[in-house]
Amino acid sequence: MNFRCYLCGDNRSEVIAEKDDIRFGCYGSDKKVLKCINCGLVQLFPQWTEKELDELYAKYWKKEDFKGQKRKVKLSKYLAGIIRKEEVVLEIGCGHGDNIRFLRSRGFRVTGIDKDPSVCDGDTVINSDIRDYELAKKPDLIYAIHLFEHLTDPRNFIAWMIENLSANGRFVLEVPSTDDPLLTLYKNEKFKKFCWYPYHLFFFSKKTAQRLFSGYDGLLNIRLLVTQEYGLLNHLRWLFFGKPGNINFHLPVLDDIYKFVLTKVFGLGDTLVILGNKTGRT
Ligand SMILES: [Zn+2]
Repeated sequence: MNFRCYLCGDNRSEVIAEKDDIRFGCYGSDKKVLKCINCGLVQLFPQWTEKELDELYAKYWKKEDFKGQKRKVKLSKYLAGIIRKEEVVLEIGCGHGDNIRFLRSRGFRVTGIDKDPSVCDGDTVINSDIRDYELAKKPDLIYAIHLFEHLTDPRNFIAWMIENLSANGRFVLEVPSTDDPLLTLYKNEKFKKFCWYPYHLFFFSKKTAQRLFSGYDGLLNIRLLVTQEYGLLNHLRWLFFGKPGNINFHLPVLDDIYKFVLTKVFGLGDTLVILGNKTGRT
């Protein structure tokens, strides 16, 4: 099978990681992480088939990435700050629905859908694939936290959002970023092995996400934010011990300065937030 870049169609690539460098040894599957020489998009190759992905996800919650790992509540603070109370909101790929319960308890009109039946209760979290999901009302806001990088065809998902959002609907996508300072600034070898995660089919940076969304000029307004979730202690742990930490201690002032320097001075961060809204011209 020959490589063809999802984003630009180029067939030239550089190998970033081999099977053994992908987390969990990529479950023994012969995959690589490739970076397109032309546009820089990092992608898993060859991609999983839909059937393989379903099998992988069937064991997703039963497995620990590392000892002591807890279920992640990926509720970013900005989210509650940007949703308006009257809006109909949909979270896609919401897992156990912790975000939704939190937002509902504060009076927001949020529903979630997830493909994994074991996390669905039919109320907070509805078991469905977006392709089969029948929306009672077009949402004003769609958000997805660490979902976009798992999709086999991100353009298909963007098209679905454009079709299903209300006229001036908005969306928020949060993805891990290859602009992560542990990768780019510190070039931490242990972290590299950790970050090439076999469930991720694409590894976006601000630049590659920009290029992907530039294909929707006129239909969508896009704003990209590079943010840094993990602080100094987490980075020191990686640099000295080469290990992940589940607890993300916040050092007052110091972490604020550190994150400011990383994101604003270096333009680096572990998380990329894609904020979009429909221009209403669809
Ligand atoms: Zn490319």
